[in-house]
Amino acid sequence: MPHPGNPVTRSLTRVLADVRAQDHPGRVADYIPELSRADPEAFAISAASVSGHTYAAGDSTTLFTIQSISKAFVYALVLSEHGADAVTARVGVEPSGEAFNAVSFDDRGRPHNPLVNAGAIVTTSLVPGASAEERFARIRRGLSAFAGRDLDCDETVAASESATGDRNRALAMLARSSGALTEPVDDVVEAYFRQCALRVDTTDIAVMGATLAGDGINPRTGERVVPPAVARDTLSVMASCGMYDRSGQWLFEVGMPAKSGVGGGIVAVAPGEYGIGVFSPPLDAVGNSARGVATLRTLSQEFGLHLFRHPERPASPVQAIDVEPGGTVVIRLRGMLDFVAAEQVAHLTAYGPETTADATTRVVLDVSAVTASTRVAARLLADVAAELRLQGRDIVLVDPDGVIDIA
Ligand code: GLU
Repeated sequence: MPHPGNPVTRSLTRVLADVRAQDHPGRVADYIPELSRADPEAFAISAASVSGHTYAAGDSTTLFTIQSISKAFVYALVLSEHGADAVTARVGVEPSGEAFNAVSFDDRGRPHNPLVNAGAIVTTSLVPGASAEERFARIRRGLSAFAGRDLDCDETVAASESATGDRNRALAMLARSSGALTEPVDDVVEAYFRQCALRVDTTDIAVMGATLAGDGINPRTGERVVPPAVARDTLSVMASCGMYDRSGQWLFEVGMPAKSGVGGGIVAVAPGEYGIGVFSPPLDAVGNSARGVATLRTLSQEFGLHLFRHPERPASPVQAIDVEPGGTVVIRLRGMLDFVAAEQVAHLTAYGPETTADATTRVVLDVSAVTASTRVAARLLADVAAELRLQGRDIVLVDPDGVIDIA
């Protein structure tokens, strides 16, 4: 862990101090009696990059129960286990606009999404296991793989939730009556209560988020926890449904896939970049950590993390165009060649004055300074090459590192 003098750590410490000085009213959850014992002043943030750097400020080693944050990761586990089609046959992907514990079913009898309780309980039922213990053991292993360390369950919170969990049992019964849930209600609900009571700190949830940000690879352990498509699908649902019935407002203001829990934690993800975990137990009116929301809103604004900001791109994939004697034009490309970069090259080659000049008989595409190319970019360049050949021009590829294949 970088020491507190690290500039990133210092920025995180400053954001916490700024938010602490503002007024963000909230109340610690007490509908599960054990949760009401949380320290309302505890406040922490951690960030984990996909390259494995972690930063933390505040009470980042304080443990709290993961609660609904678990729902996103258990969803990822069942998507990996059964595939998206089988899972969406049982639970939808539409934001419900309703409270987390609402009776939320669509006209096909599916819970609206896996991040409200009804949907999360169905998701937990899709984790293989012949008993609550087996199901929970599998969930604990899977979430520990996301966190990169062995998580344990706060049995006191789990028991407290079970003792007061009739509404969740009722939701499970309704899901069973509509056919979305086929397993025994008690087994499923007890595994769900223990899943919610897994203990984490902000660095754990930051690493869990970074695993989704990094296409399913845990940056702490290097382990592939879920396939890339599962990481993407999970982030999609977090973006539209992760913040209870403020998910639209959240996407508008903060613009990051996220999931919050009534324990006071929130995980937010900057895809391809970071996982961020925040913790502060007092909750706002819809059940999101009040200071946590303010912290992530500030971070998103200050560090430019909104998903729909205008993407910064390198100036141009074209480093130089040299017209050489004898009708040869050399186009030197650089950096990462993705579809957008290849489209610029294709346009320039098809319409540029150098390549379309009558005198040009040979076009050399020099990709020595290209670091990598996507398949779709390579395909586009292959089409450009074919077009140039049709026009009677020669095309030569200079690719010493074999980053591209446009035979
Ligand atoms: N264990 C909680 C419940 O189902 C999760 C609530 C939450 O974090 O939204 O009531």
